[in-house]
Order: sequence, then C-alpha cells, then structure tokens
Amino acid sequence: MKKILVLLLVLIAMNVQSQSEVKKTPFGKTPDGTAVDVYTLTSGKVEVRIMTYGGIIVSVKTPDRNGKIEDIALGFDDLNGYIESGNKPYFGALVGRYANRLAHGTFTLDGKQYHITKNDGDNTLHGGAKGFGRVVWSAKQIPDGVEMTYVDPDGTEGFPGTLTTTVRYTLKNDELRIEYSAITDKDTVVNLTSHSYFNLAGEGNGTILKQQMELEADKFTPVDKTLIPTGELAPVQGTPLDFRKLTEIGARIDDDNPQLKLGRGYDHNWVLNNGGKFAKAAEAYDSTTGRVLQVFTDQPGIQFYSGNFLDGTVKGKQGHMYPLRSGFALETQHFPDSPNHKNFPSTELKPGQKFHSVTSYRFSVR
Ligand code: BGC
Repeated sequence: MKKILVLLLVLIAMNVQSQSEVKKTPFGKTPDGTAVDVYTLTSGKVEVRIMTYGGIIVSVKTPDRNGKIEDIALGFDDLNGYIESGNKPYFGALVGRYANRLAHGTFTLDGKQYHITKNDGDNTLHGGAKGFGRVVWSAKQIPDGVEMTYVDPDGTEGFPGTLTTTVRYTLKNDELRIEYSAITDKDTVVNLTSHSYFNLAGEGNGTILKQQMELEADKFTPVDKTLIPTGELAPVQGTPLDFRKLTEIGARIDDDNPQLKLGRGYDHNWVLNNGGKFAKAAEAYDSTTGRVLQVFTDQPGIQFYSGNFLDGTVKGKQGHMYPLRSGFALETQHFPDSPNHKNFPSTELKPGQKFHSVTSYRFSVR
C-alpha cells in the first residue's frame, strides 16, 4: 500500500515537473488592425514562441552541449518583419490548404476541374497567393501549449469546401508536438505542414552544409524542371539522396546529379519507411554544438529542403542576411501534387471525415 502511494506521489511530481509554462503576449497588429499574439512555451529545456499570424513558429531556443542557449529557427525579430517582407521563404509558417506544389495549379476531383491561384511560375506553391501562413488564426491556451484554428472559406484560392483546420502545439520537456486536424463541408484536398528553417548552430551562424542529416526513407519522388513529381518512386540507393545514414548535408550537394541540378540542391520529397505509423522520419546533427533534432511523424513523406532559394537578400533576426543554404526545412507532408498522381497516397477529404496527423520535433544534444 505504502509503496503504491510513494509511486503515485512520484508520478504526480513528475507530471507537475513536466508541465510547461505558457504565456500569451501581444505581438502587434496586421495592416488591417487585427491584433496578433505570441505564445511562449517554456519547458525548462526548450523555449518555443508561436504567433497567431500564420501560426508561425517565431523562435526555438535550445541549449548546445555546453548549455549555451541559441535560437535555432530562422525568421524575423517582430511581426512587421514577417508582414513587410511577405515572409517569402515561409519561415516557421503553417502551410495549407495544400502544402508544396500543384502542377499548373490544377486538379480534378469528382470529375470537376479546379483551378488554384498560381504563385510559382505555372504552379501553385504552399496553398496559393496567401495560404495559411499569412492569415491570423484564432487561438486558445491548452495544457503545455496553444491551439490554433482557422476557417478557410469555400472557394478560397480556388479550393472547394470550407475547411476548418485546428493545429495544437504542445511542448513537453525536449519535444514540440504539432497535431493537425481538419474537417470540410465539401469534398476537397488537404496537405498540411509546418515550415521552420533550422540551423543547429544558431540562426545567422553560417551555412548548414557541415551539419548532418539522416532520413528514414528508401525512396524519393523525383521531380521535373518545375519541381513537380514525375510520379515515380525512385530508390535513393546509389544516389546523393541516400540519407539512410547520418551524412553531411554538403558532402554531395553539388554532385553532378540531375535531381540535384533540378532542385538546386536538396528540395525533394522522401517517401518515409513508416508505413503510415508515427515513427522517426529524420535526424539532424551539428557536431560543433552537439545539437540534435529528431523529427517523428505519421505522414507518408518529408520534404528536405536545403534552403537553396535563400540568397542573402532577406534581412532576418538581428539583421542576419541568411545566405544560400543557411537553414534547412524538414516538412512532413503528403507527397507534392498528389491530386494529380493516382499512385500517391490520397489527399482527399470528404465531409464527415477528419484529417488527423501528428509531427513532433525533439531537441537534444550529443
Ligand atoms: C519548397 C521549395 C520552396 C520553399 C519555400 C519548400 O517547401 O519545396 O521549393 O522554395 O518551400 O517556399
């Protein structure tokens, strides 16, 4: 009896200890006067700030192996930075209603053709001109985090159906969990992700080329010259896209490989080996600071993007100019352009169904 009581007390104490602090602070206003808040989640080990504009992860502060705290997420110092620049790289943003590309901004659903705003040459990228990363989400505090909701009206950017999306961010110890759900009132397509750029040496601390990457994927989806998947699932074996073992990002990035030329580096969707179950998808490691980032997901794919469109022209946090490949993104997702590829896992959502998915980022040191 006594033993059980002690165990119970220990369990309660552990739970109390693992509770994160959540603080809401005003973060400015959008040009139309809408108030934006930032939620600061502090677990004792990690501090993450998320704002209601775009559901953007504004900062991720973690210790290196000597305890030195740095912000490892690229972005801007304040709301104006995101708004005035248009946040073209999608730093930290929630991406929807369809993450990544839709070929020619077109797809057919239930025999009807839909045309979505083209914002990437002849294609749609990350949901069209505005997307979920440039709207204000409603938010409420939840244990260890914040829940954000956005109702995307029928016809926005050309998509069918009113889509109600809820994203719950929670921080516990070293783990930031992002739980997505969405419902619709008409048949539609959905692909949601979070678009943080990480630099494990700290944002503004040079390129990520010496940092190492591992991706739990035997295959990837090759792309054409506009970065639209060809439809093939190709083995990574024998290519510079093989990250089944922790490998320096820069080791092969400039190899004479047609896929790397098309992507200007890594900008591809890897087909995860997880079989649709929540499992480790990626691990990144920086040997200089010891920081490790692990990504877990139940999504079928992950976009590993090595920041090839960063060009030193965006003035980010503390005036940092973010040169080429100074941050990487690991975007858990369904495959790009799925509505146009019958052999890819379906992104269709019907009334009465619920899209639900979990991705988590674990921050540690080695
Ligand atoms: C895409 C890149 C794009 C970047 C920023 C990534 O998800 O794959 O091609 O440049 O997002 O928009």
